[in-house]
Amino acid sequence: MHKNLIDGEWVDGEGVENINPSNTADVVGIYACANEEDTERAIAAAKAAFPGWSRSGLLERHAILRKTADEILARKEELGRLLSREEGKTLAEAIGETVRAAQIFDFFAGEMLRLAGETLPSVRPGITVEVTREPVGVVGIITPWNFPVAIPAWKIAPALCYGNTLVFKPAELVPGSAWAIVDILHRAGLPKGVLNLVMGKGSVVGQAMLDNRDVDALTFTGSVSTGKRVAQACVEHHRKFQLEMGGKNPMVVLDDADLDVAVDCAANSAFFSTGQRCTASSRLIVTDSIHDRFVDALTEKIKSLNVDDALKPGTHIGPVVDPRQLEQDLSYIGIGRDEGARLVIGGELLERETQGHYLQPALFTEASNQMRISREEIFGPVASVIRVKDYEEALAVANDTEFGLSSGICTTSLKHASHYKRNAEAGMVMVNLPTAGVDFHVPFGGRKASSYGPREQGRYAAEFFTIVKTAYTQP
Ligand code: NAD
Repeated sequence: MHKNLIDGEWVDGEGVENINPSNTADVVGIYACANEEDTERAIAAAKAAFPGWSRSGLLERHAILRKTADEILARKEELGRLLSREEGKTLAEAIGETVRAAQIFDFFAGEMLRLAGETLPSVRPGITVEVTREPVGVVGIITPWNFPVAIPAWKIAPALCYGNTLVFKPAELVPGSAWAIVDILHRAGLPKGVLNLVMGKGSVVGQAMLDNRDVDALTFTGSVSTGKRVAQACVEHHRKFQLEMGGKNPMVVLDDADLDVAVDCAANSAFFSTGQRCTASSRLIVTDSIHDRFVDALTEKIKSLNVDDALKPGTHIGPVVDPRQLEQDLSYIGIGRDEGARLVIGGELLERETQGHYLQPALFTEASNQMRISREEIFGPVASVIRVKDYEEALAVANDTEFGLSSGICTTSLKHASHYKRNAEAGMVMVNLPTAGVDFHVPFGGRKASSYGPREQGRYAAEFFTIVKTAYTQP
């Protein structure tokens, strides 16, 4: 059994099976499920470890993050395989995500040696002002299942870099990758209590984290409904918090787009990683003259995509993560039909050699932006094409959503690309690129209902994981 890590000790718990969505007969491993009491102990351990860790030498912290980056990179095939097996993204995508996690630890190992403050003259003669950043304290980390290695990495690495102690709760469906990362960090030499792992249910472990006054800051990625609950609890406890939530990301295709680029961007955005990315595009907003050519070419592209076991060479799209998500995808496909959109291709369950949750990517046309399939996050390989007359209408439709994470446009017009970058209501804008797929060293995050609080990743991560102090000195 893979155990939880509390105060430097591996702790038993009720064992839960981790099932491979490509082959439900394959049990990836048994993982301990923490309870409320374990969570309380983990938070207490993080609190006790904070004074020591927050004042620890930079080189000690630097060495641990570097070692972690090196080990993740050295084991990228094995860790990628584990990720692919428990989450269902293809092996290539999983190895790519693992490499990205290593790069994130590497980045923050370097960032730690660049910590800087400011010294300014006061407006009062003879007095100096220093502005410094201090760690926040005990940070709670709650993550979703769709990026089992990268999202924990982009929260854990900056949290440790800036001197915080942590309690980390991964999503129930993907404890394997989380456990592996924590094991690496633990063996890299983290003092006891600095990083605690509590695998288990959101309603038990997650809720116990929200209810505990000793959690000073909480970083959450997941659905809007859970995010709202996290926000309410954090306001109640005067706790700093950061939320990254859902999306309904638009991809605009204009008449002057390069058709091949547009089709590749759309197929990647909508269907790769089984459409299970917060930055996936499920609204393809296409102008009149290119519409029919685009739909035909995208349909052909979908036919060429191989949906199969995530670990099999040649698979482009793995299975849906679990039966509950599959049911949600199928239900939205039914809703789309009932709303009057036309299902051009896909939407059927597929049988493969192994018993898995295989779904043929689905494409709707004749969709309107008012339909539920255009407004609600489906989180599966389902996209709809919305026909518009020109760029102005495309921009208006793209922005007509409660979400604002990523927004894309395919065009060869500099004028439209520039206008779109400035006017898209989203945290990230992509020109002639898929809406998903971001760099690790620059800010990540959205607007409107997609996000709340400071950006994640790159140097901007310091905003959340530190607190600014202003000190005045009269010599
Ligand atoms: P979810 O909200 O169901 O779960 C996220 C985490 O919250 C899990 O660890 C879960 O156990 C925990 N949780 C559940 N109930 C809780 C409670 N009462 N108290 C505290 N924690 C609780 O989301 P999910 O299904 O794991 O992930 C899919 C969602 O994540 C999608 O909406 C997707 O868009 C979003 N997502 C967003 C980003 C982003 O950066 N914006 C990235 C990836 C995924």
